[in-house]
This record gives sequence, C-alpha cells and structure tokens, in this order.
Amino acid sequence: MTITTESSTLTPGTTKTAATRILANYIDGRWVAPQTQSLLDVTNPANGEVLARVPLSGAAEIEAAVAAARAALPDWRARSVGERTEFIYAIREKFRQRIDELAASITREGGKVLSDARAEVTRSIEVLEVACAAPMTMQGRILEGVARGINTETIRQPVGVCAAITPFNFPAMVPMWFLPFAIVYGNTFVLKPSEQVPLTSELMFQIFEEIGLPKGVVNLVNGAHDAVNAILDSPGIRAVSFVGSVNTAKYIYRRAAEQGKRVQALGGAKNYMVVMPDAVVDKTVSNVLGSAFGASGQRCMAGSVLVTVGSAREAIMGRLKAEAEKLIAGDGMNAKASLGPVISSAACERIHGAIEIGVKEGAKLLVDGRRPTGVPAGGNFVGPTILNNVTAEMSVARDEIFGPVLSVMHVDTLEQAIALVNADPRGNGTSIFTENGAAVREYSRRIEVGMVGVNIGVAASPAYFPFSGWKDSFFGDLHVHGWDAVEFFTRKKTVTSRYFSAGETGKFFTEQGEKH
Ligand code: NAD
Repeated sequence: MTITTESSTLTPGTTKTAATRILANYIDGRWVAPQTQSLLDVTNPANGEVLARVPLSGAAEIEAAVAAARAALPDWRARSVGERTEFIYAIREKFRQRIDELAASITREGGKVLSDARAEVTRSIEVLEVACAAPMTMQGRILEGVARGINTETIRQPVGVCAAITPFNFPAMVPMWFLPFAIVYGNTFVLKPSEQVPLTSELMFQIFEEIGLPKGVVNLVNGAHDAVNAILDSPGIRAVSFVGSVNTAKYIYRRAAEQGKRVQALGGAKNYMVVMPDAVVDKTVSNVLGSAFGASGQRCMAGSVLVTVGSAREAIMGRLKAEAEKLIAGDGMNAKASLGPVISSAACERIHGAIEIGVKEGAKLLVDGRRPTGVPAGGNFVGPTILNNVTAEMSVARDEIFGPVLSVMHVDTLEQAIALVNADPRGNGTSIFTENGAAVREYSRRIEVGMVGVNIGVAASPAYFPFSGWKDSFFGDLHVHGWDAVEFFTRKKTVTSRYFSAGETGKFFTEQGEKH
C-alpha cells in the first residue's frame, strides 16, 4: 500500500513509526494523504498504546470520494450482475483466508476478545455470501398481458452513490452490513468508519484493492462530525446508512432526509431479558451473562436489563451472581479473558459514573466490577457489574450504559414485564426465557421491539433476514440486510410496452402457433 501526497509517495509504517503513522483515505483507487492537520490518536483500549493517528477529514475529502464514486458508476452498473458478484466472491475468499488478521485488528483497536472478533468476521462473511445471491435477488417482475398485447415489467436499478457512517463496536461487521449489497446491486460507495476504530476498515480496503475492485467503486474517508455533515449535505450521495447512538441517528435521519436522500438510521438500545418462573436455570443464566457481558456490554443487542417474573427471582439470582463472579476481565488477546476492555477511558469513566448514580438511587450492587484485578496497566477495564432491585425511574434502567452493567428488576407477572419493556422509548432487541409456548406467543405478539429472542440472549438476525429495532432504535423504514437490503440499494422502474410490428394485438402469436 502506498499513500500519494502532493509532493511525494509515502509507504505507511516504513517512513514513520507505527505509533505516529497517519492513516490515509482511499479515494478513486488510491491511498491519499489527508488534507487536514486535525488528527486523533487511535489507541489499543487494553493498554493505551497509540496504534496510529486518524485524520479528521472534512468536506473536501468527502467531495473527492463522491466525485470518484460518481465517475465509477456508469461502468460499474453496466457490468453484468454476475461480474459484480464475482468480486463479492473474491472478497469473501480473502475474508476467510485472513480471518485471524481481521479478528486481531478488531481486538487490537476495539478491545473485544478474539473469539468475539472472529465471530464478527464470520458474520461479515455471512453478509458477503447473501450478497452473492444478487442474480436472483435483483430480479424484477413481469406480467404479460396487462392489456391485449401489452406487458408491464418492474426492473431494479442501482440508486447511485451510497454512503455508510458506522459506530465503534463492530469495526468490520457494520460496514459490511451495507457495502456488499450496495456494490453488488451496481451502486458505488463511500464509507466513513468510526474514528475510534479506523484500522479494521483500512485492512478491509486493502483487501478490496487486492482483489482489483475497479477504482472509485468503494471509497474510504476517515473523519468525524465534519465528514458526516459533508455526507449528509452532498448532492452526489443518494442513500445514507447509519448505525450509532439514538441522538446521532435522529440527527442523521432528519438532515439526510431534508436533502431528499433515502436513509436507514439505526440507533442505540436498552434491551430487556425477561425470565419466566419455568425457565431452564443453568442455560438461562449462561445466556443472560453472555448477552450482558459479551463484548463488555458494547453490543447494540446486549441485554442490559434483566426482569425476573415471580419465582424466577429465587431460581436464578444466586446462580447469576456466582457465575458472573467467575468471569475474567483482561486483554482480548488473552485466551483466558471472558471480556475485554471498554473502548476508551472516557467510556470507562462514564460507566463508573453510571454505576455510582445507580447505587445512589438505591440499586443494590450485587456484583461490583469497578476495580477488576489482574488487568493490564493503562487499559480501560470494567468488570461484570450487576445492580439488583432496580426500578423503572432509576437512571440505570433508563440510560444506555453501553458497558458490562446489568440492571435487574423484579415483577410479579408477564403482563408487568411487557408493560416495562414497552414503556422504554427504544426497542432494539429483547429476549424471553421460558418453555411456555403461550407466554412466548403473548410476548412476541405484544412486545414493541424489532428483534425477539426466545431462550436466546442475543437475537441478532442472520444476514438473510432483516436486522433492526423499532421506535428510537431505528429511523427509516427499510431495515439492514435480508430482502430489505435489496429494496434499500435498488430503485424500481416500471416499463409498460407493446410492439406495433407484432401485427394486430395478439394475432401474431396465434398465427405462428397455428403454423407449427
Ligand atoms: P456514535 O453515535 O457516537 O457514533 C457513530 C458514528 O456517528 C461515528 O462514525 C461518529 O463519527 C458519528 N458521529 C457521532 N456523533 C456525531 C455527531 N454529533 N454528528 C455527526 N456525526 C457523529 O456511536 P458509537 O459510540 O460509535 O457507537 C455506539 C452506539 O451505537 C450505541 O448507542 C449502540 O447501541 C449503537 N449501535 C446500534 C446498533 C444497531 O443496530 N441499532 C448497532 C451498533 C451500535
């Protein structure tokens, strides 16, 4: 990989030490040095090591990327769908071959344990595989004979230049929720990854370069708010996909829609896990712990509130505490660690603050993870924390903490549990633990949440189903992947046709038929 500057060509990592390496943008098939002097450190959250410096690019870089993407459109959409699909197969092969490298990058900059990081890459591969169905999924529909001798057909065409703005917690998977579908359907693409985890995007774009994607088809611009605003305002961008916190999602949706773009904006979450009295205790506890503390609670699908119904409280609380205390915080590279660090020292402080407020508000600290032992120096570690006897008014029940903190509430009936969940302004994911089919049916039917798990702690839909929450967890109408991706990344055109040379309507075919 080389970076082109106005006066010279640099090879990152050889001309500078790794710690001061300034990341480049990837525009029009080249690694381009940023125009801005504004840089942020990218750090390893496990030990504070500076891994690189990310530029906070602005409108000029976004416009260069949009110009490249627009220039690439005519040739890219003119290629056969089969040819575009071949590129997706090639990316998928590279992801499979380099899964360890991609996973290590995710762990190094994002903190999650390696097994989780590998699972993230596996999920990205799954999206690539679903995108490879484009020759089937991009098909339109035709009806012969809407009137005598007249056919009507709907065809799917690309939307144009599409952009994605992504969060820190899935450095590979969330960009890959969008990019494969966008390009396989003939669009070109601009990615603005999270400024906290830009290195995995860099690696993925090196792969796109290696497989020979034509220049301008995919572009990478590093940055933060200025780059985002430039995407939202750019007349050249037709569709915006966003994933991040609630307030940013609302903002993105409003500003991009004002510019006439199609938008899908996925926001933050507060996910409830409801445990019924008949739940299978050991499996429920391990699923609850995996959901609450996996990726240190930094998943949009993390179960952050546990609601026990009736006697489920006595059945599971003892075991929950005992098992949570066995979990080990540590560097994600360490195979013994159950959970890695949180993303930044600011996040660490915010999570500590949330726990303290919860305790002041009257919650009981059942498991205290504020001072985990045996963790590397300089890292942003919070151990598994359980707050018991939480009530709906407490901030730990209302705010998204986005850390390894589980708030536990107790109610008497399923009806009360449903009311609690539905009172939350967000509705991303939820789980119910029970063997009772009637309770499951009632819960699934009435709950105002986009993704429901039954005895599953993290009910994230596979890539061939739509993924998204409801209410403040989602602004837009077309969800991520599944059939919704076809709808989002294509626009429909309907052609109604007849041919006068076919003779009197319908007769030509009759005559031909009679001759044979
Ligand atoms: P974030 O909202 O801070 O940042 C997301 C992206 O938006 C980043 O690329 C960032 O540069 C940009 N951004 C942030 N603030 C902005 C502003 N004011 N103006 C313009 N751009 C801005 O989110 P995060 O902290 O990176 O990610 C964690 C959040 O994402 C959590 O709330 C989590 O629940 C949510 N999330 C949701 C889903 C989902 O599927 N619903 C998936 C993953 C993460």
